[in-house]
Amino acid sequence: MTTALHQRVTSALRDVPDFPTAGILFKDITPVLADPTLLPEVITAMVTPFRGSDVTHVVGVESRGFLFGVPMALSLQVPFAPARKPGKLPWRTQRESYDLEYRSDVLEMHTDAVWAGARVLVVDDVLATGGTAAAACRLIERLGGEVIGVSVLLELGALNGRARLASHHVHAVVSV
Ligand code: AMP
Repeated sequence: MTTALHQRVTSALRDVPDFPTAGILFKDITPVLADPTLLPEVITAMVTPFRGSDVTHVVGVESRGFLFGVPMALSLQVPFAPARKPGKLPWRTQRESYDLEYRSDVLEMHTDAVWAGARVLVVDDVLATGGTAAAACRLIERLGGEVIGVSVLLELGALNGRARLASHHVHAVVSV
């Protein structure tokens, strides 16, 4: 990653205070999506560390993980699979619960989305506490896949999400 890219991403991200609830400083990635020069460079920066790692699947976490995960899967020429909120996927699913600050949530994947021997790259937009990404990793492992890494656009370093992903290679284009 070049320093120039780091700076361009940092200045493109929009801070929205008190969204979706009071006290949360929401990192809005839509200006990155709206920049057709920056977006492909971001996709390249998110995927490059995992080239040569024999990734067989990219799993994107609902919903903003889809926006980056699909072009990354196309770039690697491997299948993309969504990890979704409960009740969204139409076929047979495996589920994994995880705790957020004031509630718990669930991620689901189709049972045939990854399989034993799969080498999976997990993608999301923001790594905060790491609970969501850790649940996605557990879900993939329960389906028999191996998590090769976790790639995000932005890491909120103060929340130390990496600690919950300690056994995995975590890559962030920008850490704040
Ligand atoms: P966590 O499980 O705490 O790592 O939260 C990660 C998930 O919540 C990701 O899917 C993010 O899209 C979203 N998220 C958490 N905190 C923020 C934030 N401050 N700004 C934008 N998205 C966030």
